[in-house]
Parts: sequence; structure tokens; C-alpha cells
Amino acid sequence: MSNKQASFLASVQRNFDKAAVHTGLPKGLTDQIKVCNAVYQMKFPVKIGNGYEVIEAYRVQHSHHRSPTKGGIRFSHLVDQNEVMALAALMTYKCAIVDVPFGGAKGGVKISPRSYTPAQLERITRRYTVELIRKNFIGPSVDVPAPDYGTGEREMAWILDTYNTFKGGEIDAVGCVTGKPVNQGGIAGRTEATGRGVFYGLKEYCLQKSEMKELGLTPGIEGKTMVIQGLGNVGSYAGIISQEEGGAKVIGVSELEGTIVSDTNINIKELLAYRKSKKTIIGFPGTKEVKVREDWVGLECDILIPAALESQITKANANKVKAKIIGEAANGPITADAEDILLKKGVVILPDMYLNAGGVTVSYFEWLKNLSHMRFGRMEKRYNQNKNMDIINTVEKMTGKKLTSREKAQVARGADEVDLVRSGLEETMVNSFYQIHDTLRKKKGVNDYRTAAFVTALNKVANDYMTLGVFP
Ligand code: GLU
Repeated sequence: MSNKQASFLASVQRNFDKAAVHTGLPKGLTDQIKVCNAVYQMKFPVKIGNGYEVIEAYRVQHSHHRSPTKGGIRFSHLVDQNEVMALAALMTYKCAIVDVPFGGAKGGVKISPRSYTPAQLERITRRYTVELIRKNFIGPSVDVPAPDYGTGEREMAWILDTYNTFKGGEIDAVGCVTGKPVNQGGIAGRTEATGRGVFYGLKEYCLQKSEMKELGLTPGIEGKTMVIQGLGNVGSYAGIISQEEGGAKVIGVSELEGTIVSDTNINIKELLAYRKSKKTIIGFPGTKEVKVREDWVGLECDILIPAALESQITKANANKVKAKIIGEAANGPITADAEDILLKKGVVILPDMYLNAGGVTVSYFEWLKNLSHMRFGRMEKRYNQNKNMDIINTVEKMTGKKLTSREKAQVARGADEVDLVRSGLEETMVNSFYQIHDTLRKKKGVNDYRTAAFVTALNKVANDYMTLGVFP
């Protein structure tokens, strides 16, 4: 077990304990919420090249207070039991915070996906799915995986197809996994959802006048400088959307090959295209390479966005942080020791369990779409469009003024699935922000966003347990 993974689980548990004392809940109940309910470790053989490789994998269901359990599947050589347990626990709190009615779970396959061909990855994914089916660890009402680090819609399609092979007769089989390609039961807007949620969360926080004043910043995300660590799915979309819709300025980016900075805005879309062709971010026009890659931590900026893996900001480098705000787009990027240092320095941390909950929120929408067997907007889009047109025509008649047919079409347009998904996501992120904000303002002794988020989540999970009659 690596130290990083051990300290990740320990950090989640330390943060839990720090918050639990503010809930007033009985110890037996908080003990029950804290532990992982079911841990399944598996080892299975997969034919790779001329021989077989034994693959180590996990699925952890952290909490059964609601069904199904939900959480992504990670493919990484760093996967171990502690890591998957910590990630599963975060899923429980994440779902509670954004009012998504699932228990938390997580899966992990200990492989480095880059070392395998797509055909080999397909065999591994399918065999892992079979192991889950065998032990009843997957199903639309049992446990619903999704993408995470190292996986995406391709893997989700393989999972669905394998599930269908065994359970194709189930009417809701397509809801056994989320993050699927749109043409295979997925939902528009899922791929960008985590990054988009990060943007909505940051935007709402930046609107808080008194808090911005305390940090010496002006309200609003526009013009805020950002540094992003990790250009995977979450980091890329968080950057692109913050630039395009929020007017934020990305002035630093860190990836495996190095860290780059710029005095102006680094266009993330163009940077991604550059990286695709050159296999590196280094040399991107208008940027300079920072000598030591790890120095991304200490770059001067308003908002630092770790969007890669856990335990990136530790007690060894926390003192270098110059950012005023850290937005945790990744799960667990700051260790508990580092957090103590950062809070003392006055850095505001928007915690993972809130800020990156956009992914599971839209997964919830996808699952609902699958259970209803119909895309969002199908019933009402045209009705709304016709109604809006009636209103415009009436106003035109009353005022004698006319819109062009293009303007009319634009104003009257009914919502497509992606419009509804984005609006549902924004509503969720804004609403949850104020729930946490309220706890932070009103609860004595709660002085940071993570503790406030934890307290909010724990009270909701505890309430479910009580409703279930487990703890009357
Ligand atoms: N893996 C994502 C997360 O950590 C998404 C989980 C899901 O959609 O179920 O939140």
C-alpha cells in the first residue's frame, strides 16, 4: 500500500471526525455512517499477449442507506483497497450534498490503461463486469458504476453490453451503468458535467460579496486567474467553461510532462488540440515552461484547481500555496495535514464532495432517463415552443411591433435535453452551495467549507437511517 493511498483514507476519516462532533448525532450512528458496508476484492485472469495476467480489482459499497449505490470505476496502477474505500465514502457524502438519492460506492481496477491495447482493455472491463454480476454488485437497483480516472464512455458501453449479455431480459437493464455514449442510453451533457459543475460552484462562491472582500477580491468569477493541475476530462471542461462562460483567465496548467504559465489567458481548447498533436503541453504558443513541474502548487493566482488525483497538496508543499481559493475538482487532492496549514494561512477550500458532484448529479439524470425510457424534453419541447410562439404573436398584435423570424425562433425555442441537463445541474450546484453556506454561517465551531459540507451530508444520511428505523 502506498503512503499516499493510506493517508487519503486517513484524511477522509479525519475530516469526518472533525465534522461529526458538530452534528450532535449519537456515536453509534456516526460510526455506522463512517464505515464501508461491503468491500469486494477480486482477482481474475485475463489473456494478455501470449499468456495470462492476474488482475486485481475492487468494488466497495460504502453506504446502503439508499439504493442503488453509485460511483465510478477507476483504472489506475495506484488503485488499492484503501483508495477505493476512501473514494466510495466520498461518494456517499457527495450524493447526500447534492440530494441525489444514492448510497456511495466506487470501483477500481489496478492497471495502467496506457499499457494495454483497446482490445485488452475491453477484455479486462468485460471480465470485471462479469465478476460484479456474479456477486450481485451491479444492477440498476443495486449498484450503478460510472466513469472515473482512466475510464470513459467506451468502458461504460462495454459494461452495459456485458450486463445485457447476462441480464438482457431486465426491462431497466440500460440503467446498470451511467456515463454511456448518448446513442447507447447515455445523456447529453454527461461528459462535461463534472467540469461544468466545478464552474457553477466556483461562480456561486465568487458571487459572495463579503467573502470576496475578505480575500481582497472583487465579486464575480470574471477576470479571476486560475491554475489547473490535470487536463483530463474534469480539468479540461472546468477550464474551458470557466473561460468561455465565466470570463475567467487560466494562467497556468500542469500535466505529466510539465507545467506552463502565461501572462495572458491560456486557451484550453487550443491547448488540448496542441497536446493531441505534439503529445505535450510544453511549447504551447504564448506560454513559458516552469522549471520544476511540481511548482504548480505555488503559482500565484486567485483560484487553484487540482483536477488530477488525491494527495497532491500535502504538508510538504502546502506552505508554498499562494492561491486564495482552492477548488477541489479531483477527489481528495488535499491531505488533512495540508488542510490544517492552508486554513491557517486563510486559504478557502471548496471541497471535492461538493465541487465535483456535477458528475454524479448528471449520472442521476441519466439513470432517471433510463428508467423512464424516454429522453428529457420529448414531451414538452414542441408544446413550449408553440406556446411561446402564441405569446409572441399576441404581443406583436397588441404592440404593433414585429420581431424577425430568426428572433422569434430564438425566443420561442423549447428546451432540448442538454438545456434541461445544464439547467438541472446549475440548480443543483447553486442550491447545494447555499445549504453548505448556511451551515457555515449558522453552526458554531464550523469554520470551513469542508466541515460545513460534511455536517450537511452527515445530517442527511443520518436522517435516512432514522427513517429506515435502523436508529430510531
Ligand atoms: N466518478 C465520478 C465521481 O467521482 C462520477 C460518479 C458517478 O457518476 O456515479 O463523482
